[in-house]
Amino acid sequence: MDASDISQDLEHVLFTSDQIADRIAEVAAQIDADYDGKEILLVGVLNGAVMVMADLQRAMKSHVQMDWMAVSSYGAGTQSSGVVRILKDLSQDLEGRHVIVVEDIIDTGLTLSYLMNYLASRGPASLEIMTMFRKPDAAQIDVDVKYVGFDIPNEFVVGFGLDYAEKYRNLRDVATLKSEVYS
Ligand code: 5GP
Ligand code: MG
Ligand code: MG
Repeated sequence: MDASDISQDLEHVLFTSDQIADRIAEVAAQIDADYDGKEILLVGVLNGAVMVMADLQRAMKSHVQMDWMAVSSYGAGTQSSGVVRILKDLSQDLEGRHVIVVEDIIDTGLTLSYLMNYLASRGPASLEIMTMFRKPDAAQIDVDVKYVGFDIPNEFVVGFGLDYAEKYRNLRDVATLKSEVYS
């Protein structure tokens, strides 16, 4: 391993890329069956959802379209405040559309809860959530999530789109980081 290999920073791999791909295929098949030929608009939340968005839609057989939002939590630090600033809004109209919000991870649920109220007010025919990961022990608010890749322990993970300080998104596996990475 050379010095540029970021996998040296990993402590523990929770999910390999193969496990992630297998689970995405299952979720994609479930969505295809549930929507039964309806066109679906996938709304991704930048930047974390980029990888799951790309893999999920290629595993699906339904007609899908995609759009993106970028949001930022108000307040300093790593703690979610639940008040969300919209940095990039949707390009498409949601009126009458079957919308699935695609997320990388749900932690407290505060960001997504805010976002769901916002999206619901735009008149979609239906509105559901698909998240690759969810931390049940960190939930501070109840969000009704129809499609979950994996429930995980309340640990900070990186990879498959998830970052630490905007790095590690390009890891194919999902893992925790060695403690020295943070110091
Ligand atoms: P929530 O409002 O649910 O607390 O915040 C969700 C957002 O926090 C995610 O979209 C993600 O950007 C970030 N986040 C929460 N948990 C983790 C984690 O374990 N790893 C990484 N990289 N980001 C996380
Ligand atoms: Mg996210
Ligand atoms: Mg992040």
